[in-house]
Amino acid sequence: MSHHATRLLFFLVLGSLFVACEKQSSSPSLTVDEAFQPYFEAFEAAGAERGLAIELGAEDIGAVFSSELETQMAGKCTKFSTGARIIYIDQQSWAGRSELQREFLIFHELGHCYLDRPHLDEADANGFCVSIMQSGEGGCTGRYTVLNRERLLDELFE
Ligand SMILES: [Zn+2]
Repeated sequence: MSHHATRLLFFLVLGSLFVACEKQSSSPSLTVDEAFQPYFEAFEAAGAERGLAIELGAEDIGAVFSSELETQMAGKCTKFSTGARIIYIDQQSWAGRSELQREFLIFHELGHCYLDRPHLDEADANGFCVSIMQSGEGGCTGRYTVLNRERLLDELFE
C-alpha cells in the first residue's frame, strides 16, 4: 500500500487521535458529557479487572465535545496547571465511530489524562500497534477489536 493509502486507512479505522499536553493557567468547569460516561465506567472496570481502584469521579477530569480541534484530530487531552484535565472530543469524528472505536478514543485520552502516558508507536511483528497509546501518525497500524482488546488493555494499565 502506498503511504497515502495507509494514512487514509488509518483515518477510516481509528481517526487521528491525539494529544496535546498543554499547560494553561485557567481551568474550565469539569463536566463529563453523558455520552462519555459509559466509557469512563468501562475504563474503571478494565482497571478493576487488573487490580487498580480507579475512581474517575474523584479526579479533576472533564470530558466535553469540541468543534475546535485541529483537522483530523479526534480527541485531545489538555492538562491545566491547576491539575485539572479536560478531554476534548471532536463531535463529527465521534458520530462516525463504532462503540469499540469510541472506547478506543476515550481510553486513549484517559491514557494521557489519567495514566499520564505519552504516545507509543511500537509495532508488533505484523506491523500492528502494540499500544492504545499509538499516536496515529505513523510507525504502526492501529487496530482495536474484540480479539486484541484484552491484550491492549493489559498493556494500557500495566
Ligand atoms: Zn494521544
